[in-house]
Amino acid sequence: MTTVKEIVALMEGASPEDIAFVEKAYEYSKKAHEGQTRYSGEPYFVHAAATAKILAEYGMDATTIAAGLLHDAVEDGRVSRTDMEKEFGKELLFIVDGVTKLGTHKYRGAERHAESLRRLLVATASDIRVLIVKLADRKHNMQTLEHVPENKRGRIALETLEIYAPIADRLGMGKMKSILEDLAFPFVDPDAARHTAEVRKLKTEETEDGLTKLQKELKQELTKKGLTILRTDIRMKGLWSLHKKLERKNDDINLIHDIAALRIVVPTIEDCYAALGVVHALYKPLPGEFKDYIAFPKPNGYRSLHTTVVTHDAGIVEIQIRTEEMHRDAQFGIASHMTYKQLGKGIEKLGKEEQKSRFSSLSFSWVRSLIPSLMRVSKSDGGAKGVTKVPPWLAELADAHSEVAGSQEFVEGLKEDFFSHRVFVFTPKGDVIDLPAQSTPIDFAYAIHSGLGDHLQGAKVNGKLVSFDTELGNGDVVEIIRRDSAHPSAKWLEIVRTSLARRHIRSALGMNEQSKPPRRQRRFWKKKAN
Ligand code: MN
Repeated sequence: MTTVKEIVALMEGASPEDIAFVEKAYEYSKKAHEGQTRYSGEPYFVHAAATAKILAEYGMDATTIAAGLLHDAVEDGRVSRTDMEKEFGKELLFIVDGVTKLGTHKYRGAERHAESLRRLLVATASDIRVLIVKLADRKHNMQTLEHVPENKRGRIALETLEIYAPIADRLGMGKMKSILEDLAFPFVDPDAARHTAEVRKLKTEETEDGLTKLQKELKQELTKKGLTILRTDIRMKGLWSLHKKLERKNDDINLIHDIAALRIVVPTIEDCYAALGVVHALYKPLPGEFKDYIAFPKPNGYRSLHTTVVTHDAGIVEIQIRTEEMHRDAQFGIASHMTYKQLGKGIEKLGKEEQKSRFSSLSFSWVRSLIPSLMRVSKSDGGAKGVTKVPPWLAELADAHSEVAGSQEFVEGLKEDFFSHRVFVFTPKGDVIDLPAQSTPIDFAYAIHSGLGDHLQGAKVNGKLVSFDTELGNGDVVEIIRRDSAHPSAKWLEIVRTSLARRHIRSALGMNEQSKPPRRQRRFWKKKAN
């Protein structure tokens, strides 16, 4: 059983008040769960304490850790919400409410499940810590899944793979993502899991010595060139992601070059590029395999240089070069921006609103892509009052989903809409713009500003001029050329993907919502005076 000492020891930089708060929550939760057991036969409180420990490992603040301790206390009706608020405050209650599954009386089966998820994501819109507690809860549940009745395991594991691991990924929590995936994999497809583990083991044995030699050699060469190497390590690819890649490569292990990757951690960004130069001078890189995620971070914030090189000792190897900060971000993602160190000790001195906005998902533009609107729910159950600035596509989704409220379709829709049907493109300054798949430069221009769309003259994608009907792809850098004399054309209505763009074009063309796009009104169209 995790002791309160173990949890507190992980709370680096916490004030005595914070520690007292967590200690109080520990005792309170222990009492609330008294006499309750888990499937494993262990006291239920073991789960609450383990969840809190995971949160402390992530460097989360006292409120989040305490919420981890208390996250299941309300659900069983052992503690009333009023008491919890009185003892631990509004903030903690909000997080616990967001994580709590719905009571059985209102929804059943898949409906209850979808509704819980919907509520979780709505609460997340106001406070991202809700989602982080949920992920910690899920991690411990997956670690103990073998004790759960067999008929329930498959569903829980599948849900972890399809929903929670992608959410962790989108939050940049790479370590959490791969742990969740690898815990779930054997329950979803035992044969494939065994096969993949076998393949990885063979490959590891085959390349182990060569990799160690390579690691040594590279370290020496880099140091010789005057570079400070903070760390090098060898990381093995997660089993689930290896499995997915094997599937894509027709089960040909020789086509996969990143089963083992050599990681080099250096002090600064300049050092990253200098180290890359040394690596490429020593070993021939495979063409087309170099990725600069420092200049062009992944939509989830991931940064690193990746290159695949041919070595004498270890064959074809992927090498990842990054700074310490990038390394921490890659493992902990959004959570690493919420630790004591990052938030600073001065957080108590900030006003309530400022404090709140630190945790508000709305201040992380890319997190918004995770949050299904479902405003209907937030209105009816009174949660997530902080959601005011809802992006338009979110509103669209809410309408689409309101018809299938609470059904299995919602979960299906969530998976599809959020994780596959969107593209993330960049402005020349590096801001991420999130658009539906098949969006065009016109959609992009309107997503930035209506004035930009209304005076769109031309567009460059990755530095090249393109036509307006070009479909944008993930990671494209899009630059809009604006000119006062340029105006929308009715033709655009057939090209654009977002209703936001369509609405602006219509209004610029002086059309009302119902009328059809007029023909041949290209140049002399005047803006509606309003
Ligand atoms: Mn739980």
